[in-house]
Amino acid sequence: MNDAPPPSLLLLLHFLQDRMMAELHARGKTAEDIRDCLRSAPLDAHVISAIKTAAALRCDLRVVSDANTFFIETVLAHHGVLGCFSEISTNPARVDADGRLRISPFHDTAAAPHGCSLCPENMCKGKIIERIQATAGTKNQHFIYIGDGKGDYCPSLKLGEGDYVMPKENYSLWKLICSNKQLLKAEVHPWNSGEELEKTLLKLVDKIITPPAQVSQFDCSKCEMSKPASTEVGHHQALRVPH
Ligand SMILES: [Zn+2]
Repeated sequence: MNDAPPPSLLLLLHFLQDRMMAELHARGKTAEDIRDCLRSAPLDAHVISAIKTAAALRCDLRVVSDANTFFIETVLAHHGVLGCFSEISTNPARVDADGRLRISPFHDTAAAPHGCSLCPENMCKGKIIERIQATAGTKNQHFIYIGDGKGDYCPSLKLGEGDYVMPKENYSLWKLICSNKQLLKAEVHPWNSGEELEKTLLKLVDKIITPPAQVSQFDCSKCEMSKPASTEVGHHQALRVPH
């Protein structure tokens, strides 16, 4: 029986850029136009597959993004994975009477500035991570943080030993991490394609949910063959769920 809780997985949706939002506004698009545009934007099949598999393995998936609720919910719902996430922390969005999308800052900067010098005024992802860490409890809870932007550096610094950060290679987060690797307590696992993201993520999830004694006793490349019948690792089968 494996008592380790499934890892909390923090997935950043880096494909939703604020710049795209601004361009759509400038062209006078309505919220419905934007929704159509978002639905036609491709999302890597490996990323969708990784989300579904991690959810099937009972990982707690959350989005921490500097995009907005409208973008994220539209895209995730379109690809049938919105229900995989327990929480979406992002800038609130609403559609006004003219059908235009209105975005507000995540932090009320006037009333309560977050005070973090690393992050943009509207959002400190580090504060969000601290809140999740506090509510998630401390026992054997592991975090995997996937990101690419500058704003992902602050939350990466908040991660502890036993946590993982997956930066996209050659992007801002990766460069900041490389500038002084000593500052991070979490293990760093870079990726540079959706396929590599999926492979790396599922390897880490498997590592977290597999009791350490089994990892040290068996050659994982031959796990299928060498695992004794008496060893129960129920999560393993779920790694190959069809989708
Ligand atoms: Zn911050």
